[in-house]
Amino acid sequence: MSNERTIPTIQYGTFSQRVHEQAAAHQRVIKAQFELTYRCNLHCRHCYTDPYNSKEFFSHELTLDEIHRLLDEMQQLGIVWLNLTGGDIFMHPHFFEIYEAAVHRGFLLQLYTNGTLFTKATIERLQQMPPFTIDISCHSVTEEPFDWFTQVPGSFRAFVRGLELLRDSGLPFTLKTKAMNWNTDEMPAIRQFVESFGQEFGFTTSLSPRLNGDLSSLSCRIAPEDIVALRGDQPTADGDEERCGMSADLFAPNTDRLYRCGCGTDTIHINAWGELGTCTLQYERRVSLRTHTLADAIEMLFREIRGLRYQGDSPCRTCEVHTFCDKKPSDARWECGTAEAPIPYDCDVALTRAQSALHQTLIHPLRRTHKEVGTHHD
Ligand code: SF4
Ligand code: SF4
Repeated sequence: MSNERTIPTIQYGTFSQRVHEQAAAHQRVIKAQFELTYRCNLHCRHCYTDPYNSKEFFSHELTLDEIHRLLDEMQQLGIVWLNLTGGDIFMHPHFFEIYEAAVHRGFLLQLYTNGTLFTKATIERLQQMPPFTIDISCHSVTEEPFDWFTQVPGSFRAFVRGLELLRDSGLPFTLKTKAMNWNTDEMPAIRQFVESFGQEFGFTTSLSPRLNGDLSSLSCRIAPEDIVALRGDQPTADGDEERCGMSADLFAPNTDRLYRCGCGTDTIHINAWGELGTCTLQYERRVSLRTHTLADAIEMLFREIRGLRYQGDSPCRTCEVHTFCDKKPSDARWECGTAEAPIPYDCDVALTRAQSALHQTLIHPLRRTHKEVGTHHD
């Protein structure tokens, strides 16, 4: 009789669903996004981390020892999905040491990169221990606009070279696109390019101020009506990062919570300076992981974020299209002065999306009177 034992397997979708259900039942964190560095070889015009991609800030970044400690703590907490991002991860001087440490701890690893830094050597190293997936930004497929946007001549050629190496490697990857005002006309070509790599095309649209409050990144915003026109029958690529403010239920009731999304439930974000947040763009509250353990920081932070409430009479509080809205309170603070303020661009986008989805004419959230608040359009 054979001594071999069969290890039971389940479909990935079933596994993922079970882990999410258990996390919800036991209020456990299962996903983490970890910004290893703000260093990047590009300077994309919409990039929120770019102001800290400069020598004078690198000394603030987590040391290798601190990164190892955080990986240990994430493993102890039972985190399953770990997204390593930047900046660009391959600009971290010890990327592969960190990567291999993360692989050995058993995380399902998702790598974010701009794709321009792949070499035969990096590909071979990844092949020895493949990640769960590699996500690459693809905002243009034409040399001149691509290099204009990244502000680095030659970046398009490096991007194409990197993608070809990746495709030939057999490593799992996906391409993600941000639709902006300068690349709207290129969407059909980008779609074709993405599909030529056997990928499903989708795009996101939300842009945020830079981490230092600089609003210049917002100049790339796409017009609200173009979002709906482009969307057409396209599958949405909106992920956690983009639609964190959007409920799955289009008719989710209003509450006066400042964060009506999933912030403070099963996901954490750690920035390159070791500050814990509840998502990439949540900067209302952060806790330093240099002075707190990860477990203590999560407990403090989640309690605070879930407890934050609108205090004033912001239209967001009673907004009937809030489930279509991308507003992030920290963006509102930079753009409009307070976290409670509505962001007029987000109002326009939410209204356009809602009207398109519901086939109704609705009142603009900023034009509703107090009397209209709470009424519904049947
Ligand atoms: S590649 Fe990513 S990190 Fe680098 S500048 Fe562009 S958006 Fe920022
Ligand atoms: S649509 Fe405007 S008013 Fe409504 S939640 Fe979004 S930002 Fe606030």
